[in-house]
Amino acid sequence: MIDVRLKERRDAPTRRRHPWIFSGAIDAASGNPAPGETVRVLDAAGNPLGMGAWSPESQIRVRMWRFDEGPVDEAFLAGRVAAALAVRATMGERFATDALRLVNAEADGLPGVTVDRYGDTLVGQFTTVGAERHKAALARALLAQTGARSFYERSDVDSRAHEGLAPTAGLLAGDEPPGHIVIHEGETRFAVDVRGGQKTGFYLDQRENRRLVAAEAKGRTVLNTFCYTGGFGVAAQKAGAAAVTHVDVSEHALGQARANTELNGLAGATFLRANVFQALRDFRDRAQRFGLVVLDPPKFAETKAQAAKALRGYKDINLLGLKLVEPGGLLATFSCSGAISPADFRMMVAAAALDAHRTVRILRELRQAPDHVESITFPEGLYLKGLLCAVE
Ligand code: SAH
Repeated sequence: MIDVRLKERRDAPTRRRHPWIFSGAIDAASGNPAPGETVRVLDAAGNPLGMGAWSPESQIRVRMWRFDEGPVDEAFLAGRVAAALAVRATMGERFATDALRLVNAEADGLPGVTVDRYGDTLVGQFTTVGAERHKAALARALLAQTGARSFYERSDVDSRAHEGLAPTAGLLAGDEPPGHIVIHEGETRFAVDVRGGQKTGFYLDQRENRRLVAAEAKGRTVLNTFCYTGGFGVAAQKAGAAAVTHVDVSEHALGQARANTELNGLAGATFLRANVFQALRDFRDRAQRFGLVVLDPPKFAETKAQAAKALRGYKDINLLGLKLVEPGGLLATFSCSGAISPADFRMMVAAAALDAHRTVRILRELRQAPDHVESITFPEGLYLKGLLCAVE
């Protein structure tokens, strides 16, 4: 076992159980660990702090598996999986769904490991060399403990490059999953493309927000920007929206939104292929207004350094989006950039409301769905935030 010693006074985050150790905090290693190898972490005085995975190419040099001494083996990993499943044991029933995030990386004590369940299919994403090293054992544990039939890997993400890993995707264990998996959220059904979809195929993190937005949609005209699979708009239409317009730049996404509309026995929605920044200006110029505008853009900031520029992008669409809301209407606005805090986001919407000359009241603060658990010691895990607003 290789020991990794931290510099003087650089052990505080690890003692607070923050799972990341940056390269600058490390004094020396007693050997040359392989990528993903488990190392023992010591403070400057040689006291053990726990065990982590060595990432030689990443600025985050060690990701902690555990904050005590012990093995990181199949039994340990199976225990972490069991704990993750236990905390979600009643969620499927409570949220009336067969699609849940089962493992949420650091927050579940499994850095670099994300696993979503879509019916009988599990879809995993392994973004670090530590996760990569143990992915077969994790897939085995997850299949055994859930009774699911397939474990499909979607590690085709750019962030693997920071770890010196190439993107990869394919069947990891069990049977080939079906081409499309139909999942449900309450009465609403969605087809999930686990091979070709974004992330693991579906934005489960918006489940609760789809329900809250749909509950406000009856009788309203809805503009669903950045629609992807149509989630917000389909749920709104199902709940009795008067009209729904979906906007996305991707034809593939619009195809999925169309398919999900039909899957729910709905018709008459509009599917617009456009850049949302332009589409919002076109609606404004044509004086077209909506009773409910949803803004759910992709991540504008990957890092804190990009936050200021990202906030200008968010403000642009929020300013335009607010102008399109008819008096007495609603705005549901989101950011999935972890680098933007809820307070920053709220200030941005406040500035947009001032510039748009609209009075905005917050009906509800929105967050990622509860199966995307957060760890109290890892605030970075909160990434999705939003506001449901009444607009005058
Ligand atoms: N609201 C969706 C998730 C949105 S993901 C849901 O609830 O499931 C972001 C989507 O924005 C992707 O489908 C992507 O194709 C689209 N997108 C990204 N940039 C865009 C742009 N400038 N204009 C229009 N669509 C864009």
